[in-house]
Amino acid sequence: MSANKVWQCITCGWIYSEAEGLPDEDIAPGTAWEDVPEDWCCPDCGMDKSDFTMVEVGSNGLGF
Ligand SMILES: [Zn+2]
Repeated sequence: MSANKVWQCITCGWIYSEAEGLPDEDIAPGTAWEDVPEDWCCPDCGMDKSDFTMVEVGSNGLGF
Protein backbone atom coordinates (compact mmCIF):
# COMPACT_ATOMS: atom_id res chain seq x y z
CA MET A 1 0.00 0.00 0.00
CA SER A 2 3.03 2.26 -0.23
CA ALA A 3 2.59 2.87 -3.94
CA ASN A 4 2.03 6.46 -4.82
CA LYS A 5 1.00 6.45 -8.42
CA VAL A 6 0.01 9.43 -10.44
CA TRP A 7 -2.35 9.24 -13.39
CA GLN A 8 -2.56 11.81 -16.12
CA CYS A 9 -5.39 12.61 -18.50
CA ILE A 10 -4.07 12.05 -21.99
CA THR A 11 -6.35 14.73 -23.35
CA CYS A 12 -5.84 17.74 -21.11
CA GLY A 13 -2.96 16.75 -18.86
CA TRP A 14 -4.92 16.91 -15.61
CA ILE A 15 -3.27 14.79 -12.92
CA TYR A 16 -4.76 12.47 -10.32
CA SER A 17 -2.47 11.63 -7.43
CA GLU A 18 -3.36 8.54 -5.41
CA ALA A 19 -1.74 10.16 -2.38
CA GLU A 20 -3.96 13.21 -2.62
CA GLY A 21 -7.15 11.69 -3.93
CA LEU A 22 -9.85 14.09 -4.97
CA PRO A 23 -11.71 15.27 -1.85
CA ASP A 24 -13.91 17.57 -3.92
CA GLU A 25 -15.43 14.48 -5.52
CA ASP A 26 -15.51 12.29 -2.42
CA ILE A 27 -12.35 10.40 -3.36
CA ALA A 28 -10.30 10.23 -0.19
CA PRO A 29 -6.55 10.80 -0.12
CA GLY A 30 -4.78 7.48 -0.60
CA THR A 31 -7.44 6.06 -2.92
CA ALA A 32 -5.83 3.76 -5.46
CA TRP A 33 -6.69 4.40 -9.09
CA GLU A 34 -8.33 0.98 -9.31
CA ASP A 35 -10.69 2.05 -6.55
CA VAL A 36 -11.79 5.20 -8.32
CA PRO A 37 -15.33 4.58 -9.64
CA GLU A 38 -15.48 3.43 -13.24
CA ASP A 39 -17.97 6.16 -14.04
CA TRP A 40 -15.65 8.84 -12.77
CA CYS A 41 -14.32 11.20 -15.41
CA CYS A 42 -11.76 13.95 -15.74
CA PRO A 43 -12.89 17.06 -13.84
CA ASP A 44 -11.32 19.27 -16.46
CA CYS A 45 -12.34 17.80 -19.80
CA GLY A 46 -14.74 14.96 -18.93
CA MET A 47 -12.74 12.15 -20.50
CA ASP A 48 -13.34 8.64 -19.18
CA LYS A 49 -11.13 7.09 -16.57
CA SER A 50 -9.84 4.74 -19.28
CA ASP A 51 -8.30 7.70 -21.05
CA PHE A 52 -5.84 8.30 -18.26
CA THR A 53 -2.31 6.94 -18.33
CA MET A 54 -0.06 6.14 -15.42
CA VAL A 55 2.91 8.39 -14.80
CA GLU A 56 5.76 6.68 -13.03
CA VAL A 57 6.75 8.37 -9.83
CA GLY A 58 9.96 7.60 -7.98
CA SER A 59 10.04 6.85 -4.29
CA ASN A 60 10.89 10.47 -3.67
CA GLY A 61 7.71 11.53 -5.43
CA LEU A 62 7.03 14.78 -7.12
CA GLY A 63 6.58 16.74 -3.94
CA PHE A 64 2.92 17.56 -4.30
ZN1 LIG B 1 -8.85 15.74 -18.93
